[in-house]
Amino acid sequence: MSRRRQLPQDIDAPNGTIQENAENFSLQDFVGLGLGWDTIEGKTTLFAPVFANLVNDDFIMREVVGQTGARMPVRDRRTGQVRDVLMLGSNNYLGLANEPSIIERTIEATRKYGIGCGGPPLLNGYTTLHRELEEQLAAFKHCEAAMVFAAGFMANLGWATGLLGPSDVLVYDQQSHASLYDAIQLGRFEAVHFTHNDIDHLRRRLMQVRWKHAFTNVIVCVEGVYSMDGDIAPLPEIRRLCDQYAALLAIDDAHGTGVLGERGGGTPEHFGMDGQIDIVMGTFSKIFAVTGGFVAGKRDVINYLRLLSRPYMFSASLPPPTVAAVLAGLDFLRTHPERVRQLHDNVDYLVKGLRAVGFETDVQSAIIPIPVPAPIDLHQVIHRLFEEGIFVNGVEYPAVPRDRHRIRMSVMATLTRSDLDYVIETTAKVGRQFGFLKVAAVT
Ligand code: PMP
Repeated sequence: MSRRRQLPQDIDAPNGTIQENAENFSLQDFVGLGLGWDTIEGKTTLFAPVFANLVNDDFIMREVVGQTGARMPVRDRRTGQVRDVLMLGSNNYLGLANEPSIIERTIEATRKYGIGCGGPPLLNGYTTLHRELEEQLAAFKHCEAAMVFAAGFMANLGWATGLLGPSDVLVYDQQSHASLYDAIQLGRFEAVHFTHNDIDHLRRRLMQVRWKHAFTNVIVCVEGVYSMDGDIAPLPEIRRLCDQYAALLAIDDAHGTGVLGERGGGTPEHFGMDGQIDIVMGTFSKIFAVTGGFVAGKRDVINYLRLLSRPYMFSASLPPPTVAAVLAGLDFLRTHPERVRQLHDNVDYLVKGLRAVGFETDVQSAIIPIPVPAPIDLHQVIHRLFEEGIFVNGVEYPAVPRDRHRIRMSVMATLTRSDLDYVIETTAKVGRQFGFLKVAAVT
């Protein structure tokens, strides 16, 4: 039985079929249940053209036809042609995705261990490689022990739902990743947010929490580097507050690991705080360029989670070739500190160049946001840059608020100076054409 409800006031009611009217809608109309077409058929039919537009605009799911690198071949859906583009839209910050020595190690591991384990780590999915990786991750993050999950998403779900019980409280930054928000939905603990990177608000929150629950477990969770703006959490102040209010500190260092700190140790290294974080979460989907995630901390905490974290216990192990790729990536980091320096130099160079042509960007990590205010069509901007040979991502609502649409550039260590010059020049040209670069160039 159809249960179609009234449309919201600001959208014309459909006169014909749902499909005829679907171009009136965008992804944002479907967020949080959207329009009230709550039959599965109704909402999915209505959504189909919205999805098709995003794909046909090459705004999402662009088709890569070769190796992921600083320069890589991508198919232009509008023309069907393959373009060799400069990659400024990847979390493969150090360029390890196609590093020959790492590829070799994954091939060797595949020959020795095969392609997969056929079960979760607690049963049959724990190889020598898994043990070595956990030991190395623990050392890398200055923790007693570490455990590997099938994804960073699972790692966040896993530690938060596994560790926090009904009388515990999670205090988290408002700009936390979706995986932490989902952990909060799934978990049985109390959760309160504080305004993004606002230390005074965090202090007030902790005071309120302690006022209500003097003796309960409290964990403060922040990200090292925030993925939308690339800004960094003020970890020293946060650590001080945690000590003052007897809270543990957890950090999601997905975008800090391999990027911040001289040896790529991440946000704690950047602040000289190695060994001072209670729970360190990370992912293999950024600098290690594969998939998987991990949690590091005290040995007893990790062993508790091995049996009480459902995404760990009930999900199959990472395949040995993937584990080998991360081990090889860690070796690479140890033996090639110059690659991290190269990334820092490239970030400095690109930021200075973008500022010199008039973009106002304030950058602390390898993520550079460039605001594209409404009503400029972000899809057109992204496609124009793609036509000019630059792959960047556009970020729009619901990923960010409606008034904060932006291009998100992610810098890679393996981009050359002339690549970066081209990016600066071309982004400025496109910015002037579309009107998101208004300031005259300064020299
Ligand atoms: N945390 C943050 C901050 C992230 O950016 C991501 C990936 N977008 C994740 C967690 C999830 O990591 P994964 O891709 O390994 O699932």
